Amino acid sequence: MAEQSPEPSAGPSPTTLAERHDDNCLFCRIVTGAIPATRVYEDDTVIAFRDINPGAPTHVLIIPRTHIAGISAPEAEDGALLVALIRAARQVAAQEGVAESGYRLVWNVGPDAGQSVFHLHLHLLGGRAMAWPPG
Ligand code: AMP
Repeated sequence: MAEQSPEPSAGPSPTTLAERHDDNCLFCRIVTGAIPATRVYEDDTVIAFRDINPGAPTHVLIIPRTHIAGISAPEAEDGALLVALIRAARQVAAQEGVAESGYRLVWNVGPDAGQSVFHLHLHLLGGRAMAWPPG
């Protein structure tokens, strides 16, 4: 019988990416504190904050501290960074009380998906039943 793999540790994953910011990037300015946001989670690699225009009772954006323009950027292939984003999402879902009721994790990529901010970000939406497919 196959052994069950242990639960991953709750701590952040190390990433090899050095932190850098783009002064023209809205989310970098949130990372540095130049623009205020309601943070709900942070660690060495990522921060999570409430979306200013929520699409659900819980709507949190999870972003890397370092500037990565989007999924197509080479830095988005850093596996540890992607794991850190997903771990943070699971932590936020638990904190927000939606881990059991369910939630949606969304990457908007490019014009057809309505991407408006070009700093990698994962949307976490929950707190209500959602339709599929999304509009
Ligand atoms: P996307 O359309 O996938 O690029 O998502 C960008 C998200 O950023 C949208 O849901 C916006 O409501 C959100 N947003 C824009 N400005 C802010 C801000 N200052 N604080 C928090 N969320 C923001």
